[in-house]
Amino acid sequence: RLLESESIWMNGALVPWGEARVHVLSHALHYGTAVLEGTNVHDTPDGPAVFRLDAHLNRLYRSAKIIGLAVPYSYGELHAATLKTVAANGHSSSYIRHLVHRGYGEMGISARNCPVTVSIATWEWGAYLNEGVRLMTSSWRRNDPAVVPTLAKATGPYLNSVLAKAEALDAGFDEAVLLNAAGNVSECTGANVFLVSDGVLVTPPAGAGALEGITQDTVERLAADLGLPVRRRDILRAELYTADELFLCGTAAGIVPVASVDHREIGAEGPVTAKLKHAYDAAVHGRDDRHRDWLTPVNVD
Ligand code: PMP
Repeated sequence: RLLESESIWMNGALVPWGEARVHVLSHALHYGTAVLEGTNVHDTPDGPAVFRLDAHLNRLYRSAKIIGLAVPYSYGELHAATLKTVAANGHSSSYIRHLVHRGYGEMGISARNCPVTVSIATWEWGAYLNEGVRLMTSSWRRNDPAVVPTLAKATGPYLNSVLAKAEALDAGFDEAVLLNAAGNVSECTGANVFLVSDGVLVTPPAGAGALEGITQDTVERLAADLGLPVRRRDILRAELYTADELFLCGTAAGIVPVASVDHREIGAEGPVTAKLKHAYDAAVHGRDDRHRDWLTPVNVD
């Protein structure tokens, strides 16, 4: 069960958690017309700090633009509202969920005059995936960019993730990896994929149908710090089976090693994954001076 926080920011004001309600005829509930963000707050020596808030807010506005939602608040307003919500809930580490959805007012697919609702919730969230993930290749293909805009982090397309995740759990696995229409690796249901082969980190290119992960970008930058080569190229399903190391990355997941894919053992956490996890941990907890600009402090009194 979700651990409730005190307040949720909704359309300009903090309201008690239990009062952040919407109407059952909200457009987004019927047609998936919402965009979302998941962002982390971590404890640092200077108090709680939001990790890569600008990157997440920028992606939220890009997602909204792609699906044609006009966000009724400025960047500065949402930036301030985010910090206000995190501070009000008083957690030293938490997960932030921004949601911009087409609300209640008109019915029908064509309805474009429904008011747009913006909400910001935060809560304490435990491990999303445990170490040593057992992956299965989903029988569902990843959303194709020619069918829905996969670069938008929009709610409608998440049905694809929900189906794949349920299939994997029902089959006794921890998580699903999805292939795109061409049969190349795209991503997991809520995380991006990296493999390590002969010392090179490999992750699928933007056209493979995956979300442009902010953690994926963080991993690429940390790899550069560590002098580890990174390549963006198509990955075949069978390459996952023979990778030296394999890990998933995402805001909720962090960096988490994969133990097996379709019952083919990859093994325990490898040395490259371990180095990146260490660097990621240092960055999010404010122990890496090179990446202080990734952190936005929250004043919790
Ligand atoms: N892919 C999908 C489908 C996701 O839901 C997420 C989580 N937002 C990611 C990748 C990872 O993205 P990020 O690192 O920005 O959290």
